[in-house]
Amino acid sequence: MPLHIPTPLIVSAPLSRTAGRPVWLKLEALQPPGSFKIRGIGLACEHYAQLGAKRFVSSSGGNAGLAVAYAGRLLGVPVTVVVPATTSERAKDLLQHEDAEVIVHGASWQEANALAQSLLGDTDAFLHPFDNPLLWRGHATLVDEVAATGRKPGAVLLAVGGGGLLAGVAEGLERNGWGDVPLLAVETEGAASLHQSMHTGQRVELEAITSIATSLGARQVCERAFELGQSGRVRSLLVSDKEAVAACTRFLDDHRLLVEPACGAALAVAYGQPEALADFQDIVVIVCGGATASADNLRQWTARFA
Ligand SMILES: *Cc1c(COP(=O)(O)O)cnc(C)c1O
Repeated sequence: MPLHIPTPLIVSAPLSRTAGRPVWLKLEALQPPGSFKIRGIGLACEHYAQLGAKRFVSSSGGNAGLAVAYAGRLLGVPVTVVVPATTSERAKDLLQHEDAEVIVHGASWQEANALAQSLLGDTDAFLHPFDNPLLWRGHATLVDEVAATGRKPGAVLLAVGGGGLLAGVAEGLERNGWGDVPLLAVETEGAASLHQSMHTGQRVELEAITSIATSLGARQVCERAFELGQSGRVRSLLVSDKEAVAACTRFLDDHRLLVEPACGAALAVAYGQPEALADFQDIVVIVCGGATASADNLRQWTARFA
């Protein structure tokens, strides 16, 4: 039994109306730990548990850490998550509710991650948030579920952080004979590591992340995502933080689901960039979810960008 659940694929009447073409939603926000991450991380955790791992270690205070904590609890494997001091109380609470040990260390993710690495013993498994072929294989199951409906997407619209979701969706399309389906890869302007890499032809490392879409805040995409960016299958799109937040609010009204700005980034293209969709029918949007943003956060961001 996988640790993720199969999620609904529904047509969105409001988004289809706005985009002027059928828009479908793959509702990964409904995964028990709140995002698609459990697909890949669940598969990787099962794999490491079978190999005898006695503990899972993560340095993510976001959805990746939550997925590790959830997987560890279900598999009966203890989990340690090292997070920087900037991590929200809500994120720490969510991790602790999954019975994870939470260690707060350092001012930035780099320092938290360095401590996590130093803790690793022989029987520990470290779960990277995006750069692991096991994760991609697990994320690919979301495309298997789309393929089981027999409905081939005209394009897949998704958000990109470190590129694990992109790599997984590409793998899923390939293994279902749909390797020709274009990928519309969305980042916020302050987290545009794939976008800059595609434009310069080099795997750029950003100086800093300036976007509120923290789940997209990988300073450098993984090598596999970079390769995909060079393959001609990916179109890179950017939205502002303001647009991502506005899309979260509109989506909450339209579909009664609260998602993070990282997910709002993909939705913002569906709501606000009709020209980016003009070449396609039956666009599947990965509603990647996100558990760390609250209604209160959404109100605060909306006020900030007003
Ligand atoms: C992790 C995450 C992303 C980005 O995924 P990558 O694999 O890092 O590209 C987007 N949205 C949400 C909600 C996430 O948790």
